[in-house]
Amino acid sequence: MSDCIFCRIADGSIPSEIVYQDDDVVAFRDIHPVAPVHLLIVPRKHVANLLDLATDPDGSRVAEAVLRAVPRVAAAAGVDRTGFRLINNCGEDGGQTIGHVHFHLIGGRSLGEKLL
Ligand code: AMP
Ligand code: ZN
Repeated sequence: MSDCIFCRIADGSIPSEIVYQDDDVVAFRDIHPVAPVHLLIVPRKHVANLLDLATDPDGSRVAEAVLRAVPRVAAAAGVDRTGFRLINNCGEDGGQTIGHVHFHLIGGRSLGEKLL
């Protein structure tokens, strides 16, 4: 989608600091990091949110690609040994601000502020 910022980052028409990419997924640094490592793992396919991913015809393949990218992204960011948190904000109450499904990978410090 041409008016979607994450589609445009994924196709390279908006610059970003990419740390990992493959055929299905791109991972880049969040512009407002909340920790020393704060990356966004984004499927190249435009899907609005996690609920739509679950019902999309390509959803299983895309979700598997995201899962398989996680250790590679963590290693590229240097947090595969120290650990990290993976977060999806879904919808309004979830605090989602960009309507293209994405996963925050956060680490590089001890994340004490657990919600649960
Ligand atoms: P969410 O609130 O879960 O939808 O997350 C959206 C995230 O995208 C926020 O953490 C923003 O800081 C981040 N963001 C927005 N625009 C950009 C951009 N151009 N490059 C990198 N990160 C961005
Ligand atoms: Zn998009």
